[in-house]
Amino acid sequence: MDESTSIAKNLQRVNMNIREYEKLYQRSENSVVLLGATKNQSIEKMQEAIDNGLTIFGENYLQEALEKMELLANKKIEWHYIGPIQSNKIKKIAEHFSWVQSVSSEKIAKSLNDHRPTDLPPLNICIEVNINAEASKSGASPNEVLALAEYCQSLPNIKLKGLMAIPKLTNSFEEQRKEFRELKKLFDSMKEKGFKVDTLSMGMSDDLEAAIAEGSTMVRVGTAIFGKRESL
Ligand SMILES: *Cc1c(COP(=O)(O)O)cnc(C)c1O
Repeated sequence: MDESTSIAKNLQRVNMNIREYEKLYQRSENSVVLLGATKNQSIEKMQEAIDNGLTIFGENYLQEALEKMELLANKKIEWHYIGPIQSNKIKKIAEHFSWVQSVSSEKIAKSLNDHRPTDLPPLNICIEVNINAEASKSGASPNEVLALAEYCQSLPNIKLKGLMAIPKLTNSFEEQRKEFRELKKLFDSMKEKGFKVDTLSMGMSDDLEAAIAEGSTMVRVGTAIFGKRESL
């Protein structure tokens, strides 16, 4: 099969699924935004997705992202950093992205704030939450989130937008929903406390429906659009 036409089709299918799940779970139309997760995906595939209307991309590795940004410099793309953050990469991340979704500590938030060039708009950030503590090491634990959110709001060069999570892999739809429901609860409690957050980034290729059912506003989809990841 011709790879490029398959990406156009995949993208169309994923977009259709999102709109169907919005209806099915009584979500407002177009309340879920699609981000293409393109770590280890080629420029050609990204190009094809761009030609078919995708404008938001998430990358996990700084060097790979910087190379892609240069090659796609003439495109109108919103770049999100969604990978683990090493402290020696923070300056470049703060300079080159519009969003960072994987903020998990005060130290990282402060450093992003301090390195964000002041001639750019504030860096949009999400706090990454580790909803099931045993399964993964990344993310703040749920009971740390409110204090971290408070801290982020005190920093002028970053703008707290919401929460992100990567729950443990499970094929059980009910299990998936349960985890996402936890995150949604935390998100709602932030809103109740007066935080101006609007982004609940949850749901990937294999748990898209459960995430939308539980209130996701942004899904991060890789393989369902771009196919299996390759080493570039
Ligand atoms: C890779 C990745 C995704 C996409 O995963 P798929 O299962 O390929 O859709 C989403 N979010 C993050 C943070 C990722 O690293």
